[in-house]
Amino acid sequence: MEGHLKTDVVIIGAGLTGLVTAHYLLKSGISVKIVEKNSRPGGVIQTIREQGFTIESGPNTGVVSHPEIVELFEDLKEDCKIDIANPEAKKRLIWKDGEWHALPSGFLTAVKTPLFSLGDKFRILGEPFRKKGTNPNESIADLVVRRMGKSYLNYAIDPFISGIYAGDPSKLVTRFALPKLYNLEQTYGSFIRGGIKKHSEPKDQRTKKATKEVFSAKGGLQYLIDALVKSIGDENILLNCNEVTVSNDNQVFNISFLMGSIPVSLTSEKVISTAGGKEIEAIFPFIGQKQLKAITQLEYAKIVQVALGYRQWKGIDINAFGGLIPSIEKRRILGVLFPSSFFENRAPKGGALLSVFLGGIKHDEFYSLTDEEIQLLVEEEIGEMLKIKGIKADILKIFRYQYAIPQYTVTSEQRLEAINFVEKEHPGLILAGNIRDGIGMGDRIKQGRAIAEEMINK
Ligand SMILES: Cc1cc2nc3c(=O)[nH]c(=O)nc-3n(C[C@H](O)[C@H](O)[C@H](O)COP(=O)(O)OP(=O)(O)OC[C@H]3O[C@@H](n4cnc5c(N)ncnc54)[C@H](O)[C@@H]3O)c2cc1C
Repeated sequence: MEGHLKTDVVIIGAGLTGLVTAHYLLKSGISVKIVEKNSRPGGVIQTIREQGFTIESGPNTGVVSHPEIVELFEDLKEDCKIDIANPEAKKRLIWKDGEWHALPSGFLTAVKTPLFSLGDKFRILGEPFRKKGTNPNESIADLVVRRMGKSYLNYAIDPFISGIYAGDPSKLVTRFALPKLYNLEQTYGSFIRGGIKKHSEPKDQRTKKATKEVFSAKGGLQYLIDALVKSIGDENILLNCNEVTVSNDNQVFNISFLMGSIPVSLTSEKVISTAGGKEIEAIFPFIGQKQLKAITQLEYAKIVQVALGYRQWKGIDINAFGGLIPSIEKRRILGVLFPSSFFENRAPKGGALLSVFLGGIKHDEFYSLTDEEIQLLVEEEIGEMLKIKGIKADILKIFRYQYAIPQYTVTSEQRLEAINFVEKEHPGLILAGNIRDGIGMGDRIKQGRAIAEEMINK
């Protein structure tokens, strides 16, 4: 495919963000080429089917946090179906003092739980009357201790942040990392009052689609990727594109790269990058040093994910979503999900599939362990915690992500300003992906659709 092609839009990256954006642009008749360095589309999403197990190498689940998620599945209904997690397995377990405790889901369980101190249980009654915060860059840890107490931070929020960000609540800034929580306090003055008010506010049909349920695609997230690829067309996704660089000549972008040893270039008036922060410098040499620094200083948590499949499950009852381990408990894993408990057909009948996470921002040393060391560590931790000591998994797979989850820390304001500046200076260029607008799959779908609609409506 040597030579020079012209297209309306070039998207860099065929992960979920790039694919969703392309899907909506093409649907409205705008021509798109996606330029991807890997040999397959999907980015960090990939489903592996082996020996009766359906294993996700990247994300296992998302949350139906925005109507755009449901609408995307409606759009692709011929080729993939949304899979909603079984509500009977929604229990979240938290490890404390050598055993699992269910995270309280109502008033009575909250009163009885040994997870929080008696003082903090009383303290929570005063939460609606506490003053709202005034520091826009307050960390999640400071906010939670101020409103709810230290034991809530240690045994609810810290493990929750490990599960989502693999991050450190004392470094993540609430306004950027959990904007809904920040707005709840700022708008209603309290989480409890805000939660009650929001619950009773009338919702239109579209807003009701954001059910907050846990989702995947039936048969695995790969079906979502495959359906998007089918809609976009293989001919519009260029794989194995190396050394991608963009130049800007009077508002016409030239995107050049190598496919194997063949130089290819595309021209377009619009370029959308969905690449992570560490890639931006090489792709866009024309971005000024000050802005570049603000964007590329974004830190990412390193994650090792280990899938363990058992044909016959002999451990404790795992009819739950998963278990999370508070940092204060000083274990070597962050948490474990039980996908075969909440999605059908993820393991053979009577068996179980586990997905264990380790590493994260507080323990990036685990990323550099050898496979043998990781296997031993996970077998020891899981063996003790799920009472399956000495029983080998029938299938064990290790996946490593050096740039897994971006950390929206105090540098976020500078980064967002820099992105705005660059986009204004270079009309037609959009710096998207997880460097802004949220880290979850739902956020990526929402962002991709919003970018496409803005272009379509211009
Ligand atoms: C281990 C793990 C667990 C996760 N768990 C969850 C979860 O439970 N729930 C949830 O909602 N989300 C989760 N996420 C986050 C979710 O997977 C991501 O938000 C989403 O998949 C990111 O999609 P993306 O397209 O923005 O980025 P990516 O998937 O990273 O795609 C970016 C693409 O751009 C390509 N690219 C990058 N640089 C270049 C370049 N220079 N030239 C050409 N191509 C380039 C990459 O190869 C890649 O294909 C998890 C992520 C990881 C890694």
